Amino acid sequence: MSKRRGGVVWSSGPEAQQRCERCGRSPCVCPPAVYPLPEKQTARLGRSRKGRGGKTVVTIEGLVLDEAGLMALARTVRRRCGAGGTVKDGVIEIQGDIRDRVAETLRALGYRVKLIGG
Ligand SMILES: [Zn+2]
Repeated sequence: MSKRRGGVVWSSGPEAQQRCERCGRSPCVCPPAVYPLPEKQTARLGRSRKGRGGKTVVTIEGLVLDEAGLMALARTVRRRCGAGGTVKDGVIEIQGDIRDRVAETLRALGYRVKLIGG
C-alpha cells in the first residue's frame, strides 16, 4: 500500500537557514525592534584579559539592546572582523586584541564609540 500525501517536500534550502532566531519563522514575523537608533547609542569598548591563557577579548557594553539584539550585533561584528565572540551577561565579547577594528566596525554601523579602560 502506498501512502502518498501531497507534493510538499520540506527541505533545508537557503530559506530554512535564514529563519529568524527570535520567532523561528521565515520570513520573520517579529514586531519591529524598539531599540534606539545606533547613532543615539554609545558603545563602550573595553579590553579584558581573560583567564584562558591570558587571551585578550574586546568587550562591548552600554548598548540598549536585548539579548537577541546583542546576539545579532555580535554576529555582525564577528563576521566583519573575522573573529570569534560571544554574549555574556549583556556584554558582547569579541576575541582578539582588535579593539580598533571592532570600533571601526561599530562606527560603520552607526554607533558612537567610546574606549574605556586600558
Ligand atoms: Zn523574527
